[in-house]
Amino acid sequence: MIEIYVTILTILIGLCVGSFLNVVIYRLPRNMSLAKPASHCPNCEYKLKWYDNIPVFSYLFLRGKCRNCGTKISPRYIVVEILNTVFWFLSLMLNTNYIIPSIQTNYLMFAIGCLASSILICVFCCDLENLEIPDEFQIGLLILGLVSLLSKTADAKSSVFGFLVGGGFLWIVSILFYLLRKKEGLGFGDVKLMAVLGLLLGLKNIILTIILSSVFGAIVLLILTLKNKGGANKEYPFATFISIFALIAMFAGNYIVDWYMSLLTNI
Ligand SMILES: [Zn+2]
Repeated sequence: MIEIYVTILTILIGLCVGSFLNVVIYRLPRNMSLAKPASHCPNCEYKLKWYDNIPVFSYLFLRGKCRNCGTKISPRYIVVEILNTVFWFLSLMLNTNYIIPSIQTNYLMFAIGCLASSILICVFCCDLENLEIPDEFQIGLLILGLVSLLSKTADAKSSVFGFLVGGGFLWIVSILFYLLRKKEGLGFGDVKLMAVLGLLLGLKNIILTIILSSVFGAIVLLILTLKNKGGANKEYPFATFISIFALIAMFAGNYIVDWYMSLLTNI
């Protein structure tokens, strides 16, 4: 019975935190206070009532428009709320025996999975919209990485090597890029992000994140350059790719690596 309550609570809190993440994504890069002023329409200053602020439902009910002036509200708001809830549910599913009985329950990793996925959603949006990752996110991930070492399933050696390999690899790439092109291609924010993710995800999963984000990042960069949208000359939201594949590695990395290894051994 307790399982049902915790599952419902996880979904409800996931929705509310998702709604708060939208505030963080808008205000943190602009150095605005997260607490004040209360949520309002950026066009007409209309202060949102409590019933305009219900995650997902208010957006659907108002059909994505401000109640007062009808200005369109970005679909990002509802997408972030839904995604955050999905990731919180996934974290519950993969870190407790509530849904899959064979999984060993680990409440610490469940909480870390929820918080880390919320931060990664913020990194994804901030880098995509502003080409910038506020330091608060890396500090948050660093703290989660350190706390994860307290878990009974922690592998300290893998975390330390993950930190060194994640940060070191991107640092070397950024130096090489600078030497070859005489301009900064990768921000130091990306290097710091990959290092703290290495600590959190461990060596195997950070290597997976590096490979997938580099390959898919390069493909998208190539398509943008071919379409002549200035992909090669503009700054490029690499952390957006890192956050997508870090999320995949966090929730499915072990399954992906095992599957890949089984392919190799079957040849
Ligand atoms: Zn308005």
